[in-house]
Amino acid sequence: MAPSLDDRPLPANADAGELAKFQALAARWWDPGSEFRPLHEINPLRLDWIDAMAALAGKQAIDIGCGGGILAESMAARGARVTGIDLADKPLRVAELHGLESGVTVTYERIAAEAMAQRCPGQFDVVTCMEMLEHVPDPASTVRACATLARPGGWVFMSTINRNPKAFLFAIVGAEYVLNLLPKGTHEYEKFLRPAELSSYARHAGLDLVDMTGLTYNPITRRYRLSQADVSVNYLVAFRKPTASGQR
Ligand code: SAH
Repeated sequence: MAPSLDDRPLPANADAGELAKFQALAARWWDPGSEFRPLHEINPLRLDWIDAMAALAGKQAIDIGCGGGILAESMAARGARVTGIDLADKPLRVAELHGLESGVTVTYERIAAEAMAQRCPGQFDVVTCMEMLEHVPDPASTVRACATLARPGGWVFMSTINRNPKAFLFAIVGAEYVLNLLPKGTHEYEKFLRPAELSSYARHAGLDLVDMTGLTYNPITRRYRLSQADVSVNYLVAFRKPTASGQR
């Protein structure tokens, strides 16, 4: 195992270089004008999309690769009981501090999705894993862990970036080099995932696809929006774990 950022060993399905990028930026996580501006701007869109399907209030939720806790906190503010996990310790510390300030309670832990799945199989109504799969060496393993964490009838929501020439142009050239929305080097093209690949990992993990929507950015208006028709760059997918009887 490679040494981790805070000297604890890193689990197999983690890339020290990827985690180091988020360590370095952690202090600015909650600054809406920082590198994390895109996450702040897309959060209301994805939160409403999740809430409309999974009705968060009173639900047990886990956010995988939660970083500084933007989505995790917002789900808790909607009434879910939320656990946030990540392998970079600095973003987790920022998340904890932010929770103290905001008064919104989320339980944070530095643990891999796979280890959490062994510890708490079938315990969550809602599993979210957003903007994280494109940073891990073995995304199929993460998808399997998410599926294991969900209870039968529970939801798994994921988002990532498509892999095609347009996605390269928009997500890397446009976002990192032209518009400076993200630091250069944030994303590596080879790690992007086509919707068919993500769906296939999920199907093999026993999940049913319920909804897929694109997330588009208009550089003129500087606005993001959900677009059912355009999954060519950023996209979100909702899956459901079937119950034994096929009931929900
Ligand atoms: N999901 C959050 C943060 C996205 S940034 C949001 O959408 O708001 C990507 C996050 O994934 C970072 O916090 C990074 O530390 C985390 N990450 C990267 N590789 C990981 C891994 N192997 N296991 C857990 N978290 C990981």
